[in-house]
Amino acid sequence: MGQLGWHIDLGKCTGCNACAIACKTENNTPLGTDWRQVIIQEGGIYPNPKRIFVTMTCLHCEKPSCLKSCPVGAITKRASDGIVLIDQDKCVGCKRCTWACPYGAARFIHPSIPNP
Ligand code: SF4
Ligand code: SF4
Ligand code: SF4
Repeated sequence: MGQLGWHIDLGKCTGCNACAIACKTENNTPLGTDWRQVIIQEGGIYPNPKRIFVTMTCLHCEKPSCLKSCPVGAITKRASDGIVLIDQDKCVGCKRCTWACPYGAARFIHPSIPNP
C-alpha cells in the first residue's frame, strides 16, 4: 500500500496564510469552512516569547479515525496512494467524522447545519 503525505518545514513557515487562501480559492469552500487552516501556537519565556505557525489540513492518516467512525462506510482509504476519500452519495450527514478527527480536518458542508 502506498502512503502519500505532506512534507512541510514548519521552521520556515511565517504564518502568512497564503496556503489556506490558495486552498479556499481552489476548492471554492463556503464561508466558515476551511479545508486548510494555519494554527498559531504561543510559547517561550519572557523576554523571549515564541510564536509557532502550523499549517493544517487532512493528513490522510495511516489509520484514519474518521474512517472508523463512519456508520455507513462512506469513508475509504485508497490502497494505491493512501488518500482518504469520502463518497458523498453514501454520506448520511451524521457528522461523526468531524468529531472523530483529532486534527479538526473533517468538515461538514450543509447550507443550514454549522460545523462543530
Ligand atoms: S502559512 Fe502556508 S504559505 Fe505561508 S509560509 Fe506557512 S506554509 Fe507557507
Ligand atoms: S479527516 Fe482527520 S482522521 Fe481522517 S484522514 Fe484526515 S486527518 Fe486523519
Ligand atoms: S458525516 Fe457522512 S462521512 Fe461523516 S461519518 Fe457521517 S455518514 Fe460518514
